[in-house]
Amino acid sequence: MKGKGLILINTGDGKGKTTAALGTALRAAGHGMKVLIVQFIKMAARTGELKALKNLPNVEVRPMGKGFILSEEDLERARAAAREAWRFAEEKLRSGEYDLVVLDEINYAVHYGLLDVDEVIRGLKGRSDRTHVILTGRKAHPKLIEIADTVTEMVEVKHHFKKGIKAVRGIEF
Ligand code: ATP
Ligand code: MG
Repeated sequence: MKGKGLILINTGDGKGKTTAALGTALRAAGHGMKVLIVQFIKMAARTGELKALKNLPNVEVRPMGKGFILSEEDLERARAAAREAWRFAEEKLRSGEYDLVVLDEINYAVHYGLLDVDEVIRGLKGRSDRTHVILTGRKAHPKLIEIADTVTEMVEVKHHFKKGIKAVRGIEF
């Protein structure tokens, strides 16, 4: 591969951060590249895209989140889960086993203080030269934006949720 792997960030309040990252995962997988998707925060696993991606031989998915944070106790559990997910991701980033690693919703985990931004930066910098990384989630930390090669902000122009249309199968999950 030419040059070092890239760091990309999909952030902002508009819809499309995770799905764009998974679109890139699909693109890489089509070339036979090895892809890892680590989910921070949410439980997911039942989402359509993950069901589909799991069928691809060179894509691995690790749902690590512990769901929504509603109480102090949940916060502690979320912190432990985020740290565990990060330890796992950091090791995989360093391992040189993957061409692309998607860290889904990691921006949230940093924003809510579940992960330390400097620790995340160290892990990103310590990744294998062959590995591209995509970080998703609202409120990307300025320090992460600074070290990234490509940053895309999704802007909400309209969202059907505001019309009272709740999570739609095939569109939201
Ligand atoms: P997607 O997974 O559809 O790419 P996302 O990753 O950009 O969305 P998140 O911030 O991770 O969005 O939020 C996840 C869920 O919230 C999705 O089901 C999505 O449809 C919904 N959502 C995203 N943006 C908005 C918005 N601006 N208003 C209301 N709901 C939203
Ligand atoms: Mg998302």
